[in-house]
Amino acid sequence: MKFDYVILGAGSAGCALAHRLAEDGRYKVALLEAGGPDSYPWIHIPVGYFKTMGNPRTDWGYETEPDPGLNGRRLKWPRGKGLGGSSSINGLLYVRGQAQDYDHWRQLGNTGWGWEDVLPLFKRAESYARGDGVLRGRDGPLTVSDSAVRRDVVDRWVDAALAAGYPANEDYNGISQEGVGHFQLTLRNGRRCSSAVAYLKPARRWANLDVLTHCVARKLTFDGRRVTGVEVAHNGQNRVITARREVILSMGALASPQLLMVSGLGPGEMLRDQGIDVRADLPGVGRNLQDHLQARPIYKTTLSTINTEINSLFKQGLIAVHYALTRSGPMTMAASLGTAFLKTRPDLETPDIQFHIQPFSASTKINKPHDFNAFTTSVLQMRPESAGHIALRSPHMEDFPAIHPNYLATKLDQDTLVAGIRIARQIARHEPLASVLTGEYTPGAGIDDDDHEALLNWARDTATTIYHPTGTCKMGRDPMAVVDERLRVHGIDGLRVADASIMPQIVSGNTNAPAIMIGEKASDLLREDAA
Ligand SMILES: Cc1cc2nc3c(=O)[nH]c(=O)nc-3n(C[C@H](O)[C@H](O)[C@H](O)COP(=O)(O)OP(=O)(O)OC[C@H]3O[C@@H](n4cnc5c(N)ncnc54)[C@H](O)[C@@H]3O)c2cc1C
Repeated sequence: MKFDYVILGAGSAGCALAHRLAEDGRYKVALLEAGGPDSYPWIHIPVGYFKTMGNPRTDWGYETEPDPGLNGRRLKWPRGKGLGGSSSINGLLYVRGQAQDYDHWRQLGNTGWGWEDVLPLFKRAESYARGDGVLRGRDGPLTVSDSAVRRDVVDRWVDAALAAGYPANEDYNGISQEGVGHFQLTLRNGRRCSSAVAYLKPARRWANLDVLTHCVARKLTFDGRRVTGVEVAHNGQNRVITARREVILSMGALASPQLLMVSGLGPGEMLRDQGIDVRADLPGVGRNLQDHLQARPIYKTTLSTINTEINSLFKQGLIAVHYALTRSGPMTMAASLGTAFLKTRPDLETPDIQFHIQPFSASTKINKPHDFNAFTTSVLQMRPESAGHIALRSPHMEDFPAIHPNYLATKLDQDTLVAGIRIARQIARHEPLASVLTGEYTPGAGIDDDDHEALLNWARDTATTIYHPTGTCKMGRDPMAVVDERLRVHGIDGLRVADASIMPQIVSGNTNAPAIMIGEKASDLLREDAA
């Protein structure tokens, strides 16, 4: 069990990294994944997120601590488990973020992460038939498609947003993000294109890439300040896997900082409290936890929505047969179809809020739709100032850390979310949408548009995660940074982190495409440094 590189976690970033490191054949690479292979059929059917979220086979099932910003509510935080990681259970939405996000990372001192540096990596990763060829990739492993499913109520929302004065945008991953349009999806021929499908399938016969499933990383092993490998439980048996060159953590924004901490790399006081010997006092491990919090205004409509279309087994059967025969129809539908990236204030350089328009509605659980026709105009602030943290509850990987999201902690975050809710209401007053609405189900007519406190309180009572935790092993040179711009853990040799946890600031958009880009980038850094 000796390899040149040992990658922990076969998620969005880990699969991309493993493929790129192994493809030139010079290195023996191991990719270790705690979950199983992606053989569960619902992973590959786009609407399968109804079956994979909350399912212990595919979802780790984290839950946050009671959050003061949400009036003391806890939230479920799903995280993908198994090959593909969260890209195997996510909503399929493909969003790169804004050029300015990456230029900001570079301004923070992270050389090599500006937009001009990362654009070639986004292009290298993707295969998208449409859009500007200078900005979009045509022949990468990750297939990106436009949704073949269109819904009247969503198209009317898009047209109403245009009527309200917001610009149209045919490609929010193109020259500018701003505007209104439809989501692009990680979808290939009616099936999910996860990171595992994109990067591991083509590599399955490569002799120098070993993919070990049901292999749980428990602790790093060291020789002095150098990481030599990892202790794992593989199919229930404890063993050590050795890395001749380096170990790379790609276990995501919750498990990567946790493994660092249980291995003695983290905030000294917290580690000592847990009886862990401190190898490197890195106060930033587990801090800078950022997420996107979605407020969910819901409108009742005279149009048919998914809520009532899937309420009989007969209708579900017809939809399933249609999918089996044609790989098309409602089962290829992403969670959200319409989107808009808008500014809440004219003085902003780039959009600060994002909409996710969903042709269904539910009060709390996504798999329990309302029994009336309605749809959801989810809105979130893209660059929150609020940051939380994770803390160890025990020195063992088996015990989930305590998650403190710290949502809506600053005035800017509160004001931006309320402004977003007001824009949702403003759009709903425009045609061709207004005439097919029969009322605002929530926040509801009882809350006046001018009542900032009531709208904010409604958000605190009902808003939820859109599943984008990031930033807990942030990249940089300041005292709270965990890795440098080459993703090397400060103060330790032979160890890097490459996943969504290294983002110094959450990107303005969904986080799967950026995590895959981080995997691609890490492979370049490792190959350069090995040369
Ligand atoms: C329900 C849901 C919906 C989402 N929807 C979207 C969307 O539509 N669009 C979008 O862009 N983003 C979406 N996201 C977010 C996006 O998918 C994630 O940000 C991204 O996948 C994170 O990539 P990662 O590589 O950092 O971690 P992950 O993809 O989560 O990978 C981490 C991997 O490490 C493994 N692992 C964890 N602990 C251990 C251990 N001890 N030993 C070995 N392996 C371990 C995990 O099982 C997992 O496979 C969604 C996420 C979720 C959960």
